[in-house]
Amino acid sequence: MKIPLSRPDITEKEENAVRKVLKTPHLSLGPKLYEFEEKIAEYVGVKYAVAVNSGTSALHLIIRALGIKEGDEIITTPFSFIASANCILFERATPVFVDIEPDTLNIDPEKIKSIVDSQRSTVKAILAVDVFGLPCNWDELETLAKRYDLKLIEDSAEALGSRYLTKNGWKKCGSFGNAGVFAFYPNKQITTGEGGTVLTNNQEVADLCRSMANQGREVKNGKWLEHVRLGYNYRISDINCAIGIAQLERIDEILEKRRKVAETYNRLFKEVKGVKILYEDPGFKRSWFVYVIQLEEKYEREDRNRILKKLKEKGIECSNYFTPIHLQPFYRRKFGYKEGDFPVTESVSARTIALPFYNNLSEEEVEYIVNNLKKLI
Ligand SMILES: *Cc1c(COP(=O)(O)O)cnc(C)c1O
Repeated sequence: MKIPLSRPDITEKEENAVRKVLKTPHLSLGPKLYEFEEKIAEYVGVKYAVAVNSGTSALHLIIRALGIKEGDEIITTPFSFIASANCILFERATPVFVDIEPDTLNIDPEKIKSIVDSQRSTVKAILAVDVFGLPCNWDELETLAKRYDLKLIEDSAEALGSRYLTKNGWKKCGSFGNAGVFAFYPNKQITTGEGGTVLTNNQEVADLCRSMANQGREVKNGKWLEHVRLGYNYRISDINCAIGIAQLERIDEILEKRRKVAETYNRLFKEVKGVKILYEDPGFKRSWFVYVIQLEEKYEREDRNRILKKLKEKGIECSNYFTPIHLQPFYRRKFGYKEGDFPVTESVSARTIALPFYNNLSEEEVEYIVNNLKKLI
């Protein structure tokens, strides 16, 4: 048996949608772009979505649109995908890492307080990641952002469809803070091949992002060869957007399939000793992005690596997830980070195993995976 780590769920619906676009003159900046943006904004419950060619581009645009510049500091965590810290460096600002909570794996609001309280008028923003689709503690983060007059950015690249119970009721991830992002790489909940989007209720931020994504052209009544600000080519094609629309029309089916696979895993892991499954809380509704387990604290990185190797030998693709950002070679070199700097992140990272996870993973395959893992622990 050979089971991949992830696999997109592309049906005839997506294929037909692409074929239709290919017959139009609008391969880019056409009607599918605006339709996709409208649909995704409506789904999340925000006023504006600006679709672009990746989640990383979307993060970069937000950093610029919020006026973050050289010398500014942004609080974020090292337990994330590299892009959530890199987007800060793109603008020569500095990420200030704080550690995560050991159960939720999200940013620890208490640690934010201690940093902002103790110093730093240079701290301008918090960039919080809904790790593995679990919403951050957004009530707490919004209170902190308000109290310290900080901008708040939501990296919800992994959390399309996740919901959080606020003081005022349920809200979807992607709608918190000044602006948020989704990403549509093939392993995310929905895909456009490559793609991402900015989400915001602030028209100025939306217009700036849209302009910068399109070479700095004015959003309204701009001329093709007139560039009013520094811009990029972060455009997403109508071909990609057509895939996104088709995927979004299937979103309930997609999220339900993922939930079922996760439940099967959870049920089978109940009887496996030495393994912790992801955190659950009735106020934090996780939309399933990946299926990651943690070995218990008594296990070491070497135990985990041995298990990864053995699983792969059985045809089960798997991975450690994430490698802490501060320990990436580039970050060590640039900032002098070392092991021990962020103990919770490092301890969790040493014990995670991301297992195969996608919409059409069968119950038999999940059983095969769990049984093999059980034998190795
Ligand atoms: C996937 C991901 C991104 C980046 O998205 P791309 O579309 O690959 O650029 C950013 N942040 C997090 C947390 C992600 O998981």
